[in-house]
Amino acid sequence: MLDASWFTEQVPDAGSAFSLKIKQKLHTEQSPFQYLEIYETESFGNLMVIDGCTMVSTRDNFFYHEMMSHPVLFIHPDPKRVWIIGGGDCGTLREVLKHPSVEHAVQIDIDERVTRLAEIYFPELCESNNDPRAELKFIDGIKWVKDAQPNSVDIIIVDSTDPIGPAEGLFSEQFYRDCFNCLTPNGMVVQQSESALFHLKLIGEMRGAMSRAGLSHLQTLFFPQCLYPSGWWSATIASKAPLASFREQECADKAFSTVYYNSDIHKAALAQPEFFKQAMTAESV
Ligand code: SAM
Repeated sequence: MLDASWFTEQVPDAGSAFSLKIKQKLHTEQSPFQYLEIYETESFGNLMVIDGCTMVSTRDNFFYHEMMSHPVLFIHPDPKRVWIIGGGDCGTLREVLKHPSVEHAVQIDIDERVTRLAEIYFPELCESNNDPRAELKFIDGIKWVKDAQPNSVDIIIVDSTDPIGPAEGLFSEQFYRDCFNCLTPNGMVVQQSESALFHLKLIGEMRGAMSRAGLSHLQTLFFPQCLYPSGWWSATIASKAPLASFREQECADKAFSTVYYNSDIHKAALAQPEFFKQAMTAESV
């Protein structure tokens, strides 16, 4: 048994847990939407926890933020308008704004407190918040997308918490229909899609709902993320139009720095494990 100097996220359904040794608790609060905790850890820098689930750490957030943004931005032929639904720690926004083609990026998180805490405890993730192309909104992303004008966005990145509480509706067919309506003809959604080892059924259901909503060209990509359950995470891209190959040469020549993502990682992330292919064929998605 671990003592109180460890933070542990248990995943009872999977009979597993992940722990980090804690130096000190820096902050706790109940926001109007969720319970927020910030810790200083021994070896992962600062850690944000929402409703008991690990969200972001200083040390390993680059895997997630880079893989939620760069693959889809290099697949889209000319991404100009990007929305990030959730993403309150601002790390995905920072990565999106590294792309010079992006003219306007809106981050729509339901909970302003997540961003205010990120500004204090993860300032490096918030360093592009004052970019003139950036806009921060603090409202429900489900309503934002439902009320949006047709043809108004190229890419929607759904950087949400797990499909419980305020994020539940972000995994619904109705939400994907609303996304379809406001995307441009070659528009696409990318959504964090949990772990293929622990949440295969959820990924199948999510891909089915995306498909039925008209976002029928699908690609799930895989990447490591030791903070999250199973240590192996995924994102699913869902497009109106057939998915082109990515702009490989532009990716190889990119003028900005990344820690994990590059053109070889892009190709490797698209490789589909055998059990995943079989499960998705069985689900017909
Ligand atoms: N990287 C994380 C993960 O996969 O576990 C996600 C991090 S990000 C901090 C998740 C954000 O989604 C939170 O800030 C939360 O407030 C936001 N969120 C949850 N439901 C939402 C909704 N309906 N609309 C907008 N933002 C939402």
